[in-house]
Amino acid sequence: SKPIVAIVGRPNVGKSTLFNVLAGSAISIVKDTPGVTRDRIYADCTWLSHSFTLIDTGGIEPDSSDIILAQMREQAQIAIDTADVIIFIVDVRQGLVDSDSKVADMLRKSRKPVVLAVNKVDSFEKFGNDVYEFYNLGIGDPVPVSAASRLGLGELLDEVAKHF
Ligand code: GDP
Ligand code: MG
Repeated sequence: SKPIVAIVGRPNVGKSTLFNVLAGSAISIVKDTPGVTRDRIYADCTWLSHSFTLIDTGGIEPDSSDIILAQMREQAQIAIDTADVIIFIVDVRQGLVDSDSKVADMLRKSRKPVVLAVNKVDSFEKFGNDVYEFYNLGIGDPVPVSAASRLGLGELLDEVAKHF
């Protein structure tokens, strides 16, 4: 059967935007405020010769910061249990946040393949230290992407497909 790829990350980092771009249509709900992705959503995707099932683990994303970490842990656990490869998304504009580190620890311990996508790198001309700080998560090379501008997505999927 097809490999399963799950997208995990804090509210508002761009999970649903990435999902929709990769799925090729607006399936998942994107909004300016956290708390809007209603359900876990699946799509069949193809990249070059690879077919896979993509999951947006967004769920019901809370607005309250004390619930966010608990929910991220739950999403990460779902991804660990069901996915063959996990795309862990962080947001270059917000930088490295404590809950990113906690979830990265959890993903690392699972030994599942994780690809680290640093989203909202809307200009590839000037990315630098702001991207490199995510090496501190200890889950490998950050792949700069802009889901909104569709930059870096080929590189991201190449990294994902290495684990199929
Ligand atoms: P989710 O909560 O992780 O699913 O995040 P969404 O996909 O709903 O996106 C949250 C916000 O970030 C929305 O306003 C998106 O338009 C915006 N966003 C997503 N990707 C990018 C990007 O690559 N660049 C910029 N500048 N904004 C983005
Ligand atoms: Mg979402």
